[in-house]
Amino acid sequence: MASIRELHQQLINKERSAVEIAQEALERIQQLEPKLHSFLHITADRALEQAKQVDAKIAAGEPIGLLAGIPIGIKDNLCTKGIPTTCGSRILENFVPPYESTVTQKLADAGAVTVGKTNMDEFAMGGSTETSAYQMTFNPWDLERVPGGSSGGSAVAVSAGECVVSLGSDTGGSIRQPASFCGVVGLKPTYGLVSRYGLVAYASSLDQIGPFGRSVEDVAILLGAIVGYDPQDSTSLKVKPIDYAKSLRPDLKPKGGCVIGVIKETFGEGLDPTVEQAVTKAIAQLQDLGAEIRVISCPNFRYGLPAYYIIAPSEASANLARYDGVKYGFRADNAENLVSMYAKTRSAGFGAEVKRRIMIGTYALSAGYYDAYYLKAQKVRTLIKQDFEKAFEQVDILVCPTAPTTAVKAGEKTTDPLSMYLLDLMTIPVNLAGLPGLSVPCGFDDQGLPIGLQMIGNVLKEETLLQIAYAYEQSTPWHQYIPKISASRS
Ligand code: GLN
Repeated sequence: MASIRELHQQLINKERSAVEIAQEALERIQQLEPKLHSFLHITADRALEQAKQVDAKIAAGEPIGLLAGIPIGIKDNLCTKGIPTTCGSRILENFVPPYESTVTQKLADAGAVTVGKTNMDEFAMGGSTETSAYQMTFNPWDLERVPGGSSGGSAVAVSAGECVVSLGSDTGGSIRQPASFCGVVGLKPTYGLVSRYGLVAYASSLDQIGPFGRSVEDVAILLGAIVGYDPQDSTSLKVKPIDYAKSLRPDLKPKGGCVIGVIKETFGEGLDPTVEQAVTKAIAQLQDLGAEIRVISCPNFRYGLPAYYIIAPSEASANLARYDGVKYGFRADNAENLVSMYAKTRSAGFGAEVKRRIMIGTYALSAGYYDAYYLKAQKVRTLIKQDFEKAFEQVDILVCPTAPTTAVKAGEKTTDPLSMYLLDLMTIPVNLAGLPGLSVPCGFDDQGLPIGLQMIGNVLKEETLLQIAYAYEQSTPWHQYIPKISASRS
């Protein structure tokens, strides 16, 4: 699959039609899905209908935007009117939303072509897409391995060329970590930059929607299309939309030089040596491009994970109370009374990881424990935020590995939740502080698995983040490699 800009050029030159581009994506999906399982629903009819409309516009000589006719995948926790939205959960098995999320509406208005809804960990709780109630998704670089998660389906679909770009959501790393495992670019925007209206809530103070693409430019274009104030989301920020793609330059020359901080605490114990090597090389490359490198300490960074696993389950326990068999989706049969209907529905409808989080959250919020756990975790959150604020007094962006390892084998971590949680060690603090974070490919390990470099920006500094990521990407070959997807799973 070509880039957004290449496809746009082909469309306006009338070399190819939007219908042909959509058909090509749908054929590739059909060919690869038996191996990858990245989609939960394929929306071929909607895609072809949207593509036809773009072709009609071109035929009528009307101007089209960059995203018109571009095949896109949507994570299955974004409400799409008339199209099932399961959130990877049995409890939403029959849920067909009566309304459209703000982001998917913006994309439809821009003429993007939705090819399907992508697989995910149940309610976005997980780091490998293995907690989906429906299917596991496999990493296109090695079909025995996980794609990361929870937006694993969206990362794989882009990496394998089943669509050009996709949307995911990131509460603790669910865009950046799978982007790193699948060798693509993924960005979690500043909290409040992108409307969450129509995003099925996991942990509302952390959730953000963001783009995946095979290049920084594709991600910048998609981000530009989904940002903006939305009165439907009370946390939406009133900021002027920016054309992020316009300011990308292949060299690193932000005004007044560029200072990049390396987060000291993310190196050392627990970090895979091949990841460390690749990230160290990437930092040297940034220096060669003209950046000044400073080592920065964020001493409270390591408390991010424990604080997150109090705050996120607490919010989740409240958010998921609405799934009671009355209002949405699944309802268990054979209940004797209302209370038993609630219990049976929730017991059968939720998977093990979701139940674990509901229990942790309910416990942490209960009278007598609230101060000891929830309040304490919120205080830690403030300390982490202050670490970042201090760091951004002297640097433009921060860098560190996106994940401590490359993609793990399927099933390797499913019996040990703590080891699974550790995969998000480096991404979680960014959500706690509400900052933008991006993962860009920075090499491969000795087994040919992709490695990601995380870049973290100050509040609303997506433009700086994308500029630096673009300059880095253009000076390295990593984004040019594509997975072969030849071996079959044994
Ligand atoms: N893996 C983390 C979790 O399980 C983050 C998930 C996410 O960002 N949605 O909560």
